[in-house]
Amino acid sequence: MKTAVIGAGVIGVTTALELASHGHDVVVFEKGSGIAQEASFATGGFIGPGLMHAWTAPGLPFKTVGKMLFGAETHAFHGLANAWLSWLWQWQKASAHPEYKLKLESLQRLAFYSQEVLSGITEQYGLQYESSQGCMLICRQEKDLKMFQPQLDLLTDNGFHFKKLDPTEARKLEPALSEEQSFHSAVMFANDSIANCRQFALLAKQQASLLGADFRTGQEVLALSPDAPRTVRTLSGSSEKFDHVVICAGIHSKSLVKHLGVEIPSLAVHGYTLSSSVRQSIDAPVLGVMDAKHHVSIARTGQRIRVSGIAEIGANKRPPEQCVSLLYKVLNDWFPGAAKTHEAVQVWRGTRDVLTDGVPILGHSGVPGIWLNTGHGNHGWANSCGSARAIADMVSGRGCEVDLKGLGIERF
Ligand SMILES: Cc1cc2nc3c(=O)[nH]c(=O)nc-3n(C[C@H](O)[C@H](O)[C@H](O)COP(=O)(O)OP(=O)(O)OC[C@H]3O[C@@H](n4cnc5c(N)ncnc54)[C@H](O)[C@@H]3O)c2cc1C
Repeated sequence: MKTAVIGAGVIGVTTALELASHGHDVVVFEKGSGIAQEASFATGGFIGPGLMHAWTAPGLPFKTVGKMLFGAETHAFHGLANAWLSWLWQWQKASAHPEYKLKLESLQRLAFYSQEVLSGITEQYGLQYESSQGCMLICRQEKDLKMFQPQLDLLTDNGFHFKKLDPTEARKLEPALSEEQSFHSAVMFANDSIANCRQFALLAKQQASLLGADFRTGQEVLALSPDAPRTVRTLSGSSEKFDHVVICAGIHSKSLVKHLGVEIPSLAVHGYTLSSSVRQSIDAPVLGVMDAKHHVSIARTGQRIRVSGIAEIGANKRPPEQCVSLLYKVLNDWFPGAAKTHEAVQVWRGTRDVLTDGVPILGHSGVPGIWLNTGHGNHGWANSCGSARAIADMVSGRGCEVDLKGLGIERF
């Protein structure tokens, strides 16, 4: 089967690897000059079901908009636009839906499956990338823990393990936590992990190429046409017909399928990471740590500390360096002196493609031969390998190993 993959972020690359290993003749089209240069460039690195967040829960949209309007550092918006007002309305409807918990359940299930697939791929191809085991949620106050409780209850219902800790127990597992900072409690997810997304994507691309996948960078694909949806046309003038086309173009996916009558209700939600060299190993985290109040994560990958967070809607004209004071604050609260923040710090603004119900679209688009693996929001790295295997199974006409209930486009 001749199969095109559009987009070479972590989702496109893992999809290409799975399709090539299923025996497809794969061509990957990427508009950038290399792979994993957009949303997959500098993620927080968190993997596993523990900290999955579907972004739908009763009352959450109102709380979020309130934070944006009242200038909370965790959330921001820049200018009103019809597109995002209608998205917010859909989000509110999805959050108030009695089955909102099923979304989070689907996400946790996919994350768990993805972890299994990732470790299988890592072993099968002998891939070596920066990674560490264990993540911890830190709750400054009791109300932070209460906020996460529904998520924890669902993990318990589905047999996922975690452990609630008091501060003394938490400090034993994460000794570098600042003594100056008091907190209420922590939750330890021993099976979750941290890994370098871009490094993995580069290695996965190498393996996919060895299996025959043809990566064509600098090739921007034009919106698919209803007359010939499986013919991929590029801005540079090339045109090629495929048996299947898999859309993995992140936030750009919706414009690729808009003429096919396929509507993807995604919104660009920007976020930031800052990466800085480790100053003293002894002061650096050994686990991936998430501050529950600020939704800011801190993790060590290799010789760097990466801090990640903030949800921002609209076009922010300020340079990224001026928007990350919250990330510095949270880093200094928990791990003062861990990073060389006075030296060169890489500050990155990335764009998550978030759907109105907070979970991705995985499966057939409804147009023959056109498939969707997109809308991964905040968890695309964590869910990449499982989503890729599932879509490759579907495109190849095999049954999926994971239950994808609630993840098809027909839900919209
Ligand atoms: C601040 C931040 C922190 C994050 N932290 C985490 C984390 O800790 N864990 C986690 O799991 N996830 C995290 N994420 C989310 C994760 O980064 C994304 O979900 C994931 O990278 C999405 O991958 P993707 O391949 O779908 O999109 P992208 O990486 O954006 O890839 C899409 C690709 O498609 C290409 N493309 C688009 N249009 C076309 C076209 N017309 N023709 C050809 N090519 C095209 C683009 O150039 C791009 O390379 C984070 C995101 C942000 C912003």
